Amino acid sequence: MRAIVKTKPGPGAEMLDVPIPVPKAGEALVKVRTTSICGTDQHIYEWNEWAAGRIKTPQIIGHEMAGEVIEIGPGVKHVKVGDIVAAETHVVCDVCYLCRTGQAHVCQNLSIFGVDMDGVFAEYAVAPAQNLWVSDPSVPLDWISVQEPLGNAIHTALSGDIVGKTVTIFGCGPIGMIACSVARACGAEKVIAIDINPYRLKIAKEMGADLIINAAEQDPVALILQETGGDGADVFLEVSGAPSAIDQGFETLRFGGWAGLIGVPANPVTFDLTNHIVFKGCQVYGISGRRMYDTWYKASALLRAKRVDLEPVITHRFKLEEFEKAFDLMHSGQCGKILLYP
Ligand code: ZN
Repeated sequence: MRAIVKTKPGPGAEMLDVPIPVPKAGEALVKVRTTSICGTDQHIYEWNEWAAGRIKTPQIIGHEMAGEVIEIGPGVKHVKVGDIVAAETHVVCDVCYLCRTGQAHVCQNLSIFGVDMDGVFAEYAVAPAQNLWVSDPSVPLDWISVQEPLGNAIHTALSGDIVGKTVTIFGCGPIGMIACSVARACGAEKVIAIDINPYRLKIAKEMGADLIINAAEQDPVALILQETGGDGADVFLEVSGAPSAIDQGFETLRFGGWAGLIGVPANPVTFDLTNHIVFKGCQVYGISGRRMYDTWYKASALLRAKRVDLEPVITHRFKLEEFEKAFDLMHSGQCGKILLYP
């Protein structure tokens, strides 16, 4: 089969012919129909510091997918041949304190599909069967593939109470864009999206943002305070990882507000803890992956009920062999979600 393989440490990847993997006990073999590129894949492809410390080569990269189960290994019960599936990326131990207290997404023995083991940018992929999420075949395959970042957006947007609230979303990459739609679908009164990229802000608007602010040209702090009668937003969702956005987001969060953080700054951030958190009396929640599997039930329900439309977020589609072009486009930022078809 053809697969995109990180063959050695350093930037780039290669398309190789490799054997079709065989599912072992607890695993399933999936014929991959659609995949989507995540920021993590970009880090691995470009080989940043995190990737250099984490990835063991050679490895097939990629983890967001929609596919069909074509073979199951011994002991697999909850998926069967013919099922259309997506994959939860966090492979957990099921027995640690966190797994046993409903917090498996931050399992103490976590490994990640497509990061710590071969992934899905290939014609076929073997996955831990417990991580496969059987999806409604009436949902488009492209959306099933994007269900995993949809899950991140759901976990982020619904981490606090947003019903009837004003929500700021700093950072309009695919997760931020989708979070706009989730927040609207789930009862936010007003959604304000902030980024510095006009291309992405336009999609955030299509996804349901009531107000978009280009922080490169406008002052988000002044505008958000103006929109909220000087009180600030009830909920702040940080999806950018940019230190300036983190600062502005807390600055414009109302006293007693809720902050959900999923953006990952590249370096430690200097931050006014006293005024932004302590005296503000706000609650801060960190988002790592998806609630397992609460988030997945919500994702499926929102897709089945057509409450969230993922089409505006999917901006480009390539054949698997065009992956270099796709990663270059990712790097440019002039895109939403990019799909790769094996
Ligand atoms: Zn665990």
